[in-house]
Amino acid sequence: MTMPSLEQITCSECKHKFETRFYDSVNVTQDPSLKDDLLNRSLNKAFCPQCKAELTIPSALLYHDMDNKLWLQTTWEEEQKWVEAETAYKDVLKSYATEYRRLAPAFASIEKKMKVRVVFGYDQLREKVLIFEAKLDDRIIEFLKFASLPWDPIRKLVNKGVAMEILFERIEDGKMGFVCLPDDSDPFCFALERELYNNIANDAGAKQEAFDAFKDAFYVNVNRLLMQWGAQW
Ligand SMILES: [Zn+2]
Repeated sequence: MTMPSLEQITCSECKHKFETRFYDSVNVTQDPSLKDDLLNRSLNKAFCPQCKAELTIPSALLYHDMDNKLWLQTTWEEEQKWVEAETAYKDVLKSYATEYRRLAPAFASIEKKMKVRVVFGYDQLREKVLIFEAKLDDRIIEFLKFASLPWDPIRKLVNKGVAMEILFERIEDGKMGFVCLPDDSDPFCFALERELYNNIANDAGAKQEAFDAFKDAFYVNVNRLLMQWGAQW
């Protein structure tokens, strides 16, 4: 069983202090309902008893799926500081390897046994779960997003320097649905042909290019490529 923590939080709306339960780690193999809670965005939410505001509790949530070999670590650092966040998490895993080698060998070399990812916030965490549930490779998805960026509405945002999330949602009728959440304006949806994914997945050279873009990466996101390479058009 995954046990929730009990902690006092302060309502961001009315400053009322109250105790609430939230998770800082979930094992969805043992407790599959927590995966549903994440997917329908009800995990780690609280309602302020005074003003009834719905609050998101930003915990450093670890999402562990033993069947699908997923080890997804949430962080609330600024995404711009991804180099530091990724390096810090690599160090954490190294320290696990040393501490647990004898006591709990399963925790040694996690990165060799599981897909380890560092995600910034619950939207990115939820997206990873959706991608892996759809049996897709997140490196190819993120690479495809980068390739789709010259598309006009997104290019305008990138050129204005607007930060955004571009999130995979679902596959339907041979199309992959995405939602774009710009920092400064309303979200909008767009779709890419599933065939575009297959073209990369089935071409050894193209696939290698996508994998090389995220070589040894825990932070696998189109924003990494944007920050590393800039917009290339
Ligand atoms: Zn409140």
